[in-house]
Order: sequence, then C-alpha cells, then structure tokens
Amino acid sequence: MQILDGKVVAENIKNNFEHQISNLKTKPNIAVLGIKGDEASDVYIKRIEKNCKKYGIGFNLMMAETEEQFRKNFKKIKNDEKITGIMFQQPLSKELSNLINEIPSNKDIEGVSHSNMGKLFMGEKDAIAPCTSKAVMEVLDYYNIDLTGKKVVVVGRSNIVGKPLIPQLLQKNATVTICHSKTENLKEETRNADVVIMAIGKAKFLKNDDIKDGAILIDVGINFENGKIVGDIDFEDVKEKALMCTPVPGGIGTITNAVLIRNIIEACKVDM
Ligand code: NDP
Repeated sequence: MQILDGKVVAENIKNNFEHQISNLKTKPNIAVLGIKGDEASDVYIKRIEKNCKKYGIGFNLMMAETEEQFRKNFKKIKNDEKITGIMFQQPLSKELSNLINEIPSNKDIEGVSHSNMGKLFMGEKDAIAPCTSKAVMEVLDYYNIDLTGKKVVVVGRSNIVGKPLIPQLLQKNATVTICHSKTENLKEETRNADVVIMAIGKAKFLKNDDIKDGAILIDVGINFENGKIVGDIDFEDVKEKALMCTPVPGGIGTITNAVLIRNIIEACKVDM
C-alpha cells in the first residue's frame, strides 16, 4: 500500500508563501473569535497562532467569557478594515456560528459561511471551500488520482467535511455517495467504493473487511486511543488490501493547516 503523505502535499502548498506574502499590499491579519473553556480548541488555536507567526501574519485572539462578550468582540472587528480574515473557534452555539454570514465572504477564511457554501455548490471560482474538505481534494490532486467515473463514498455528512466534498468531487466527475450514522448497509457501500473518505470521528472504524481490493482510502478522522492519535481507518488492518491510504497523524490534518494559511493569503489579494 502506498502512503499518501500529507507532509509532502502541505510542503507543496506552502512552497511559495513567503514570496506571496511579501508581495501583498494589505498585510494579512486575522481575528480568531471563540468562547473560553475548550481544551481541544486551545490546542488547535495554538497551532494556528504558531503558523501565523512563522509567516508574519497578524493574529488577534479574542476568546470571550460569555456569548454576550463574543457578540461584542464580533461587532468590534467585523467592519475593521485592518482585519483581513475572521475565524470562529468551535464549539459555539448555532446562533453565534451564524454570525460568520455577516462578514464579506472573502474574510471567511475557513469557507464556512452560507455564501461560500453556495458559491462552492454553484462552481464559482472565488468560492472558499472549508479547509478540511479542500485538504482532501489537495491530496487526491497531488497524487494524480483521477476520479472520473469512480465511485467515491464519503462517510460523514458534516458541514466542514462531508457536505462540501459533494460539489468538489462532482467537479472531478466522481460518482458520489454520502453515508452517515443512519445509512443502512454501510459495509456494502464502502466495499463497492473505489475511493473511501472517512470523516466520522470513530477510532479505527474502517477495517480490511469493509473495503474492496485496491481501494484508495482517505482518513480525515482524529481520535485519541491509549494516548495516541489515530484515524477512522484501521491503517494496519487495511494495508495489505488497499492501494493507497493517508496516515494519521501526518495526513489530512497537516494539509488542512497549510490550506488555511493559503486562504488567509488569498483573502488579502481580493482588493489588490
Ligand atoms: P461531526 O461530528 O460533525 O460529524 C460526524 C459525521 O459522522 C456525522 O455525519 C455522523 O452522522 C457520522 N457518523 C458518526 N458515526 C457514524 C457511524 N458509526 N457510521 C456512519 N456515520 C457515522 O464530525 P466532523 O466532520 O467535524 O469530524 C469528523 C472527524 O474528522 C473527527 O474525527 C474530527 O476530529 C476530524 N476532523 C479532522 C480535521 C482535520 O484537519 N484532519 C478537521 C476537522 C475534523 P450523522 O450526521 O447521522 O450524525
């Protein structure tokens, strides 16, 4: 089985960042808004902050104690011209998450607003796709995996992975099936797939017996098992049968970080 190395794909995306940033007329400067108290999201934010610092991207962290404070923070920055990108750190209530729809779509650097999702489904060139879904497409592109006529099964229908993958996979002429927790005969779906994309958050869920010979596997899942990070695919179990697979860690997560930085840079090019 060939390992689809996320680090190589990420390096390829990051290749030209310094040069691109030095040529920007507007300095990239993002605001991250959230509510205090979620440890997992603190770890994620620290990683983004580190990446931003590495490239000289302004990073403004606004973690609120309450929903009211969050709204005040958002009001303060939403029309601030010096802020070139805005991110909301989950978990947030649906009402707070929806505030992202009040900013111009180019500042929605995670591509989660209704406007960006609509553009993505309609195939508009300036659509920003949610970073993780885009990371999946990046690895398929990098390894020249032709999806034309292929049966691609995505397991997971979240707004940041499963749903935004629909238009992007269709664009590549794949035949797309989206599965979820209510899917009957999931095994049958994955066993018939040329490509399986797992995004459910269940450690080592997909086994050897769930795939066909020569399947291409993409693992979006991030799970903790006995103090180790593992994906939704049982990597050891599938390795004799699958043709290719992304690892966890070192797969989609690594590419997602690079895609986010690219979105931050692209957001500054809009007004140039
Ligand atoms: P969500 O919890 O939002 O969605 C999970 C999806 O999986 C739902 O659609 C759910 O179905 C489906 N699901 C859950 N259990 C099963 C099951 N037994 N069989 C079939 N479908 C099932 O998750 P996210 O999309 O946010 O994240 C998914 C995974 O990806 C997580 O492990 C997360 O940590 C990881 N992740 C990784 C990122 C990266 O950069 N690599 C970034 C973001 C997330 P239903 O809709 O019916 O409930």
